[in-house]
Amino acid sequence: IYSHKLSKTQKFLLSLLLLILIFLRLMVVKIYRDINTDRMIASAKNYGESLATTINLSLNNYINTSFVLKELYLEYHTDFIKDFDKICSRIMKQNPEIGSLYLAPDAIVECAYPEYIAASTLGFEMLKDPEQSGKCLQAIETKQITVAGPHNLVEGGTGFIIRNPIFEDNRFSAFSIIILDWDKFADKLLENITEKQIGYKFAVWKENDNHAITDSNGYIFTNAKTTVSDKVSIKLNVPNDVWIISVEPEEGWQDPSTILFELIMTFFIVIIPVISVYIRQKNNAKNIYVAQHDKLTQLLSRDAFLIRFEKLIRENPQQRFNVIAVDIENFKVTNSIYGTKKCDELLIYLANSFKQKSPYSLCTRFGSDHFIYVMPFKDLQADYRELEIYSTYIMKNNPIDNLSIKFGFYGDVDKSMPATLICDKPLLAAKSILHNYNKNVANYDGPLSSKNEKAQILESSFLKAIKNEEFKVWFQPKFDAISEKLVGAEALVRWIKDDGTMISPAEFIHVFEEDGLIYKLDYYIFEKVCKLLKKWKSEGIELLPVSINISRTTLQRKNVLQDYKHLLNELDLSSEYVPLEITESSAVVNNEIQQLTEELKSSGFKIHMDDFGTGLSSLESLNLLPFDVIKLDKSLVDFIGTPVGEELLKHSIELIKFMNLKTIAEGVESKEQLVFLRNLGCNQIQGYYFSAPMPANEFENFMFSSSENN
Ligand code: C2E
Ligand code: CA
Ligand code: CA
Repeated sequence: IYSHKLSKTQKFLLSLLLLILIFLRLMVVKIYRDINTDRMIASAKNYGESLATTINLSLNNYINTSFVLKELYLEYHTDFIKDFDKICSRIMKQNPEIGSLYLAPDAIVECAYPEYIAASTLGFEMLKDPEQSGKCLQAIETKQITVAGPHNLVEGGTGFIIRNPIFEDNRFSAFSIIILDWDKFADKLLENITEKQIGYKFAVWKENDNHAITDSNGYIFTNAKTTVSDKVSIKLNVPNDVWIISVEPEEGWQDPSTILFELIMTFFIVIIPVISVYIRQKNNAKNIYVAQHDKLTQLLSRDAFLIRFEKLIRENPQQRFNVIAVDIENFKVTNSIYGTKKCDELLIYLANSFKQKSPYSLCTRFGSDHFIYVMPFKDLQADYRELEIYSTYIMKNNPIDNLSIKFGFYGDVDKSMPATLICDKPLLAAKSILHNYNKNVANYDGPLSSKNEKAQILESSFLKAIKNEEFKVWFQPKFDAISEKLVGAEALVRWIKDDGTMISPAEFIHVFEEDGLIYKLDYYIFEKVCKLLKKWKSEGIELLPVSINISRTTLQRKNVLQDYKHLLNELDLSSEYVPLEITESSAVVNNEIQQLTEELKSSGFKIHMDDFGTGLSSLESLNLLPFDVIKLDKSLVDFIGTPVGEELLKHSIELIKFMNLKTIAEGVESKEQLVFLRNLGCNQIQGYYFSAPMPANEFENFMFSSSENN
């Protein structure tokens, strides 16, 4: 499904189809042409036969005339000879095509009409003339008329000679001869024919009379200027001779309708199917492209990406790869604040950047706000550092200011895993640093292959860390928004190793949440804080509430309430000093958690909603869970300066006030933000503007100095 190019088999089948179509078209055209030719031949034959009849009829007319002369001679002999001229003049008046008439007793011309030729022909001995003797002897021998010509005549012009032999008592006695003026005869014939001529040309020729006068094409009579094919030829038997009449359609045997038919057939049988196959192929390619790409960013779809990634791995066994996942923090909120258009611009910017970054152009958009792209592996440390630099570049140059974009890095991926699993890892890594304002890139801890092993190693290092007291509680003070006095703190865990390196909670909290160890850590911090509070109380310090983060996973465990209450009882400490921070999240709102929070609340705990504004469920959980305080997330505070963002903050705080809850703003870094929040009626402020988180002893001093200031 991932290619829109034709496969070899498809190409072969298409060529075969084309060949079949061309063959089909040839066959259809051939059949049509054959039928058509048969039809044309039949109608040409028809025409030729009617032509033969016409010629025959008019010849017969003159042949009959020769019989009249014959009969007159037999009846009247000398009287006829005497009246020859008179009779002939009558005949000729009615038949202007007759050029001359003769009577030749014993084959010697005795009478000739008209007079002006008589002188030259009288006494002409026909049997002695080399040109005429053949036909004459033939007539005598067969006792039948001969028809000769056209010939040059002794008296001039061309003529057509009808010789009728006359026999008396079975003995040859004379010839009656009629000479037709060939030109006149032909003209008259043509006149007759033209009347019913219907798109044919014809030619009349003689099979074996080499004396006949013909035109350059060998025809004695034709209406055509060029040759006429002998495809259709009709034999016309004239007395003692054979004429052949060839007929051909004026436009030749190629019927113009055949050409039209060929064109139409080519169009329907070859061109239309070829075009429709082409269009289908184009559409297919387009559909495949659409199916394989994200509409907005034109990046590969998830499935197409995975298939190509697997192919890349398969085809490059030597190559090693890094996979990088990108997660846009608070994308939904950003969307509603900056508008779809601006956010689309952002997505396209990111898509193009990542696609260019990947030399294989292997990049996909996973869901609405995640990207994954593939890079070649060079060196784990160097690649990771390069990604860190690149991430700051992307954060700085994307079209939306202050946007937090998290990168998950999985270097030198395990290519034996399915591509989906490979991609999960950097995605998890990116997720792990959401809401960690100090980190944009997280490394997936690659070398740990099996989950059990990983869990074991983590668990052992966790337990070791607890035992070695590597987890420390730091305190970030909270201030009254108006008086700017210290009013409390948030306890934040710090993992400080033996060698002094500090690991950010954003890096390990999610891991422990997954492994279910987080409840131990949460309790550990709770215990530490309570013990410190107890210590401060015994030292006579006026206690301030120190809020404690409770992970969602911890909330889902049984005994949480009992364990926490038990400790407080033991230390004789009131629950009002340890408010619990619960992250708003859709997971928070289920019956068990709802019930537990109700119980916590009735046991005197104050419940703070953490990270308000980072998810869509904020309002839902606001409605369902018994919160006392709402903590506006840093990402909302960062919107100060944008008109829509400020409006959103204003309405959020109004809503919180309307519900009779208190507001704490987190991550306040500037005076401008402080003033803005104070003017909206936000109650407390936490953030670097006043103070970063600090170790317990520093916080103690901080408390002292602030109480002294009072
Ligand atoms: P959070 O509960 O939202 O904590 C606030 C985070 O924002 C802290 O990061 C804090 O150091 C940082 N922060 C405070 N003010 C500012 C500011 O003005 N600018 C910036 N850029 N950052 C500021 P931290 O300590 O790295 O904690 C990260 C997250 O880890 C916390 O987010 C919380 O969700 C979790 N976490 C920390 N300690 C615990 C714990 O004991 N238990 C549990 N379950 N989660 C904890
Ligand atoms: Ca918190
Ligand atoms: Ca928070």
